[in-house]
Amino acid sequence: MAKSLKSIRGMHDVLPEDSPRWQAFESKVRQLMDSYVYSEIRTPIVESTDLFCRSIGEVTDIVEKEMYTFDDRNGDRLTLRPEGTASCVRAGIQHGILHNQVRRLWYMGPMFRHERPQKGRYRQFHQLGVEAFGIADADIDAELIIMSSRLWRDLGLKDLRLELNTLGSAASREEYRKVLVEYLETHRDQLDEDSLRRIYKNPLRVLDSKNPEMETLITNAPDLHDHLDDESVEHFERLKVYLDAADIKYTINPRLVRGLDYYCKTVFEWVTESLGAQGTVCAGGRYDGLVEQLGGKTSPAAGFAIGVERLLALMEETGVSFQEKPMDVYLIPKSPADIERALRLSESLRDALPGLKIQMHCGSGSHKSQMKKAGNSGAELVLFVGDDEPGQVVVKYMREDRGQQVVDQGELINFLQKNN
Ligand code: ATP
Ligand code: MG
Repeated sequence: MAKSLKSIRGMHDVLPEDSPRWQAFESKVRQLMDSYVYSEIRTPIVESTDLFCRSIGEVTDIVEKEMYTFDDRNGDRLTLRPEGTASCVRAGIQHGILHNQVRRLWYMGPMFRHERPQKGRYRQFHQLGVEAFGIADADIDAELIIMSSRLWRDLGLKDLRLELNTLGSAASREEYRKVLVEYLETHRDQLDEDSLRRIYKNPLRVLDSKNPEMETLITNAPDLHDHLDDESVEHFERLKVYLDAADIKYTINPRLVRGLDYYCKTVFEWVTESLGAQGTVCAGGRYDGLVEQLGGKTSPAAGFAIGVERLLALMEETGVSFQEKPMDVYLIPKSPADIERALRLSESLRDALPGLKIQMHCGSGSHKSQMKKAGNSGAELVLFVGDDEPGQVVVKYMREDRGQQVVDQGELINFLQKNN
């Protein structure tokens, strides 16, 4: 027997039993985006490697060790997208839809990072990304956070906590950087290998380290908030006022710096204690410099990304489920001679009642096995068509003890409409 093949480590199938949850989430997302008037953008999964190096930053975990990069047959260096913001900005610049305009965009799809697979951390995972371009004020930061909080509420999730921070403007970060480098230089002996490498190239990232041995060093590091310029302080204060007005609770976490280079001013994460170590379900912030950095005309921007697997896991963990509409009708041709009639009937029902979920029994079988399948389908009604009742359909109620009923085929649509 041939050796069976498996999916790539860290990349998972969504099985038929699971896909209704994904679909329910996706349709919730569409509703939410419509209600805030954000438009969907779909970009390619593969981009030139350069795009991610220039946006995410050379000295970040993603670019240094997590990207799926390869040369294609032309020798072009390509990468499976590890996140969506860079592609979104690239597309926006390329098609001239950002310059001097306000654009509210969203996307959803697979992302790829070569990380160590574990619970909540995969090599192919999915993100819902939301980005708003062209607005410099804190009101849009607030809108994004309020929108994410509405999503938790719509889904019935109570378990998420908002952490908030500001990284200041580019100028104030530069100020702080000097102070931080000085501090790190005097504590070289306490730095791990990654941090030693980052001390000059990307010192802020040292604060993002998850190495427990560096915890004290990080706690005692100089505080970025002591080096913020007036504009950054004011932006942050306004955001807090807007969140307070919307009754959104948050904690300020001065160590929250995020893993990508392009953030400035606002950064935030929604975290939960219910998922173990991988507790960040949503993360985002402002990235005013990125559009220009990627060759566009300056445009302020802010956004966030939700890890869909983590969100669905959190729903499962906390016992929150989507209300799924079960199947309505299971249609059984009594004998092979009735199949044509059954196929025609099921098509005419679909024409007349677009929302109706109808499954036709295919592949014959005994009456007993047909009834077993009908029972397992979860359908409310089973319809039998057979030439012993020409022009009529036998309807059996599966959930209630109401026996069965004969309905004229011409009356069936009316009957189902009333029943639904
Ligand atoms: P982490 O600190 O957990 O590695 P990150 O800062 O790298 O997260 P972002 O790049 O901000 O994550 O991505 C946004 C969200 O996408 C994360 O908060 C998380 O929910 C999800 N995410 C990121 N990487 C993975 C992964 N490898 N597997 C599953 N979900 C992920
Ligand atoms: Mg990461």
